[in-house]
Amino acid sequence: MNYLLFSSILLLTPSLHAFNLDAFSKHIDSHQEEYVEALREWVAVESDSSDALKRPEVEKMMEITAEKLRKMGGKVDLVDIGNQELPNGKIIPLPKVVTAQFGNDPKKRTVCVYGHVDVQPAKQEDGWATEPYNLTDINGNLHGRGASDNKAPVLAWIHAVEAYQALNIELPVNVKYIIEGMEETGSNGLDAMVSQRKDTFFSDIDYIIISDCGWLSRRPALTYGTRGNCYFFAEVEGPKQDLHSGVYGGTVIEPMTDLIGILDTLINPSGRILIPGINEAVAPLTDEERNMYENIQFDMENYRKKIGVDRLMYSTKEDVLAHRWRYPTVSIHGIEGAFSASGSKTVIPAKVIAKFSIRQVPDMDPSVVEKQVTDYLNAMFAKRNSPNKLRVQMIIGAKPWVADINDPLYEAGKKAVKKVFGEDPDMIREGGTIPVAKTFEDVTGKRIIMLPIGGFDDGLHSQNEKMSRYNYIEGTKYFAAYLHEVAQIPKV
Ligand code: MN
Ligand code: MN
Repeated sequence: MNYLLFSSILLLTPSLHAFNLDAFSKHIDSHQEEYVEALREWVAVESDSSDALKRPEVEKMMEITAEKLRKMGGKVDLVDIGNQELPNGKIIPLPKVVTAQFGNDPKKRTVCVYGHVDVQPAKQEDGWATEPYNLTDINGNLHGRGASDNKAPVLAWIHAVEAYQALNIELPVNVKYIIEGMEETGSNGLDAMVSQRKDTFFSDIDYIIISDCGWLSRRPALTYGTRGNCYFFAEVEGPKQDLHSGVYGGTVIEPMTDLIGILDTLINPSGRILIPGINEAVAPLTDEERNMYENIQFDMENYRKKIGVDRLMYSTKEDVLAHRWRYPTVSIHGIEGAFSASGSKTVIPAKVIAKFSIRQVPDMDPSVVEKQVTDYLNAMFAKRNSPNKLRVQMIIGAKPWVADINDPLYEAGKKAVKKVFGEDPDMIREGGTIPVAKTFEDVTGKRIIMLPIGGFDDGLHSQNEKMSRYNYIEGTKYFAAYLHEVAQIPKV
């Protein structure tokens, strides 16, 4: 190749890859009301996946999603993922999963956007200021169930591709979507569906994008980790039936006393987990992490006040963030079989089952944790020398997920944030669990990035959930910019 030709290619290359944010901004801003209307239409569908009676609404939501993608010329499928057995034994079909594809150019990278369009339950009488399924704009905040979790982010991803089409700009990457309707109740059927399509739908995907979380403050954020969760049942069984505490109390060794005794050995008052092996498995905090925490925008006072407690477990921002994101913790959720009604029944419950969970972080392994917890509780119980029977069972073992923040995927995210929001993002983690992230990673072997656009105060799962117009509309520009940035990652 002669020098002149070579240099002219160099000159041409940047213009081929130019991303004109102004053009996208102009287009997206001028279609803002249409995007809000689309969200209004989606929020109006009561796609509560926890209530089997609402299943037709979830089905309708999947249909509407598929239709929107079809209208844009996508290759769309509504995938049957089987049935669900309800607690009453009745069998009903699971909502279909929507898959879609825009572009199949083998020279381009392929990204797959995951999202969900089912929602948590909501009733106005729960304390909503507005009707939860009627999107209501209050000072630029769009209030409605599912607005932030996860309907607006899914729409923003769809509108980002639509903007490329409208502006007649070739998509820089092939874009696939996988949108489900059972996320809020544990993504039933999705794992199997992903496994079955490992060598088909997922085979040509380079990266998976999830926008199902939020920022930590008003500053944009990229999410690079989620905690897993191991959920346990610990059952103590004693007498063959409940007993009267006046008649029998003092002569029997009570199951509830045994249970509370062993529960109290799980964690100490200053938050230290007492189960041997757990703390030892936790990846040590690096200097890089600690420095990052120092620079993250996080209002401790606001956080404390919102929770409504006098004091948090830790007094510094760095400790609070670290213990939300990168350390395990034990939470005791309830005791089945315990007397919990109002009044003062003098009962000795014959059988009680404690429910507790341990949030998982790297490098904990749920199968190891299961053994550590079971062995430890059995040993603590043995010390009590009780004639009652203890049975420990782990019923959920969801692994943690963490990404490398220096991965080009995240570099692309930082560039897109900088371009659209004019500042660097906070690099954050989620204390909660998004099990599907780990499934995608384990089954497909592809890398994942989480690009949240939800606000820190969106009230997910709570009353008055909202999505701000700002986050929704700027988020749409940001996703369009991300598609450009991710296309710049060299193929190796
Ligand atoms: Mn969600
Ligand atoms: Mn949710």
